Amino acid sequence: MMFFYRLIMSGVAVILCSGLSIGLAHATELSSTRLPYHSSLKAASQEKKIRPSVKFTPVNSSPQNTYPIILVHGLAGFDDLYGFFQYWGGLTDIEKDLRKRGYHVYTADIGTFSSNWDRAVELYAQIKGGRADYGAAHAKKHGHDRYGRTYPGLYPEWGKVDEKTGKVNKVHLIGHSLGGQTVRTLVQLLEHGDKNESAFKKGVGLSPLFNHEQKSWVSSVMAISSPHDGSTLTYQIEEMMPKAQQLIAAFAAISGNRSFVDYDFKLDQWGLKRHPGEPFNDYMKRVCKSSIWKKTKDSSEWDTSLPGAIELNQWVQAQPQVYYFSVGTEQTYRSPFTGHEVPELLMNPAFYSFSFYMGKYTRNFDEMIVDKGWFKNDGMVNTRSMAGPTMGSTDLIVPYNGTPQIGKWNYLGTMKSYDHVDIIGMGIRDMRPWYRGMAALLASLPE
Ligand SMILES: [Zn+2]
Repeated sequence: MMFFYRLIMSGVAVILCSGLSIGLAHATELSSTRLPYHSSLKAASQEKKIRPSVKFTPVNSSPQNTYPIILVHGLAGFDDLYGFFQYWGGLTDIEKDLRKRGYHVYTADIGTFSSNWDRAVELYAQIKGGRADYGAAHAKKHGHDRYGRTYPGLYPEWGKVDEKTGKVNKVHLIGHSLGGQTVRTLVQLLEHGDKNESAFKKGVGLSPLFNHEQKSWVSSVMAISSPHDGSTLTYQIEEMMPKAQQLIAAFAAISGNRSFVDYDFKLDQWGLKRHPGEPFNDYMKRVCKSSIWKKTKDSSEWDTSLPGAIELNQWVQAQPQVYYFSVGTEQTYRSPFTGHEVPELLMNPAFYSFSFYMGKYTRNFDEMIVDKGWFKNDGMVNTRSMAGPTMGSTDLIVPYNGTPQIGKWNYLGTMKSYDHVDIIGMGIRDMRPWYRGMAALLASLPE
């Protein structure tokens, strides 16, 4: 059982990494650098002893709202794999745990490598119900289908006025990694719509998402380990892996073509819907050949790069009536010999090479200055990027002092010695109590 668990764990970690491109050769290298220390019981018990350095204290002693919580995954994410391995919780189930405690919680399941625009559209359709409409102007610009899947709606009452209270039914959006950028994008679109979409053929058949009439539908945004200013890991991909197709090959190698019986890239808009009964290998080959790996700005790869994040930050802004929270993660320490940040031994070995890379990466060209302030990382994202958007952004970030400031980023702090997937419960530590604290904080926010 333990072996099986570790196998899945390393598989999932590599899936997550794969989103930012890793090839077969690289995957092999990672598995050969696995340290016996990490898998020992001693290490496991050591890791379990690490307590969260970010704690949540409710703003009010009693709950002030009962808004549903929507969990939004990052790159290559999923709802659950094999029916028992959760993105939010690993072998535990954070959604289920919070539900048991009376919270209304839903787990979204959106595009794995899609852009934040496409993911926000899918998230909107998934929560509200209806067909994903990427927008006529957007679809034309990027050369994909305008419409995607149709969803029954996790919370169709979203945005309606509650007859008893006379108030709008809002939600809390919690995003991990890329999911943090996605939920920010959704809030921006809800509040302001999109003028290119409105202007396109004078807005004929315009999706409500783009008509700027969805005001105050969101109570709060919580971004966990999100690359608001991008991740320097994307530079490694530029240098080492010009072809993103190779990363998909890593999927097949790791899965042995069998494990991904249900895996779904959710790239229908690019004509990449998995056919019923289609073997994963055949599906993957189709995805590999697709035009989505050409130089497009309509992808997660662009959105998580530094220039891509800056572009997003220029139009996606913190909205004055929404609470924004952020939590950072890190699991590196400064080497006394080189001054670089290097991974702690307890970091998931699948992240070691990424962490070493980010821990020393600097850049001073193309008007993009990356200095040692970017070294600290959680294996996938630079910790410096996680407090909130700064580059190209007018958003304000304040250290959280127990009183949340609306319309600004309340930075709750950094979870020390947590890697990129420890924080969502895919590591050894049980994160359920931490998320209970988070849910209590959100429920304590004023209506
Ligand atoms: Zn798109």
